Amino acid sequence: MIRSALCLLFLLDASLAFSQDSLWYAKTTGGAGKLPFIEYGIGDDRLGGAKMGFLDSNIVVTVVDSFRTDYKIRLSNLHSAYIAKTSVLLLGKHPDTMVVHNTHLSGNIKVYGDSAYDYISVTLDERLPYRSMQLIGPSRIALDIFGVTSNTNWIVQMSTAKEIKNTWYEQTEDDVLRVYIDLRHTQHWGHSLSYDSSGRHLVMRVRRQPRTTDIRKLRIAIDPGHGGDNVGASGDISKITEKEYTLLIAKELQKALKKAGVKQLFMTRLKDTSLSMPERIEMLREFNPDLLVSVHLNSASNDTVQGTSTYYRYIGFRPLSMAILRQMLTLGLKEYGNVGNFNFALSGPTDYPNALVEVAFLSNPADEKKILNPKFHKQVAQKIYLGIVDWLKQLTP
Ligand SMILES: [Zn+2]
Repeated sequence: MIRSALCLLFLLDASLAFSQDSLWYAKTTGGAGKLPFIEYGIGDDRLGGAKMGFLDSNIVVTVVDSFRTDYKIRLSNLHSAYIAKTSVLLLGKHPDTMVVHNTHLSGNIKVYGDSAYDYISVTLDERLPYRSMQLIGPSRIALDIFGVTSNTNWIVQMSTAKEIKNTWYEQTEDDVLRVYIDLRHTQHWGHSLSYDSSGRHLVMRVRRQPRTTDIRKLRIAIDPGHGGDNVGASGDISKITEKEYTLLIAKELQKALKKAGVKQLFMTRLKDTSLSMPERIEMLREFNPDLLVSVHLNSASNDTVQGTSTYYRYIGFRPLSMAILRQMLTLGLKEYGNVGNFNFALSGPTDYPNALVEVAFLSNPADEKKILNPKFHKQVAQKIYLGIVDWLKQLTP
């Protein structure tokens, strides 16, 4: 089954002659942990090109061009994106090039909640591509649905919704519908997007701020970076590997959190295990944390570069990484900074707040000396714990 699909893909690809009069349909493929993502352009770096967002599977897109490992897909008349060829299955030639200029219509929008989450469901006539953005000041989520013209004359908002304060939309372009979702709390706690089984509703699940922000009641996930075949960076002088020391520090963090009374803890690994990023994401999705902390050790080609840093991908999750950095800096480490829009795979999910900590540089002799010291692991663990506590303290009720 997989083989024949791959074969078809290859044959089609070889014969593709992209031009305005030969467009192709394709549908996104996915599977556990492997959400297909779309990128803004063909740029690439160590962690891949800049991502526009993730897509559900079985979304039909129009392929307009082919570039190395990516297809260029049309999202709307004015928007396009790039997607890995391995993330789509070509379905065949477009029967009529005019079809792609026809837009779809949106229907009713419903906002509601159950015992755990809030939801917003947008009625559409097909599984169409989308992207979402966290906005701050005030905190809200913007959801762009591509290829859609509004026929939404009914936004029903139920009192069961606890986190979603307001919902409205704007037709930002002829065929792009932007739905705004206002949040009750300043802090973003995450959201997930997928189509329901009918394929007629794009559903956003919005995580609520926990009823109590007592750290002991939270579900906390820790990801010790690397492991197994993936050794990560290595010590400049000691030649120790990043994977061993991220695990040592993560275990100290696990201990510190347990000691503080956190009961719902999850470590992506407890041993020297090889784990792919999709595997980690799938495990995390299953655990469904309230927050995730990833632990890494940095490295640079220039051995004078040193210091501690924290990373986030989405602006709504920045406060957690800032709070951890402020605590880390009290260890007397130099500041390497707080880095945004970071393209690390585990920073990619929008589902829960997450922060990555690059404790210090293995490539810098002074930092390396600290990293080798077991006392320092305990101190780092304590600072990360205090950073989480500080972050929780500044939440709006
Ligand atoms: Zn690393």
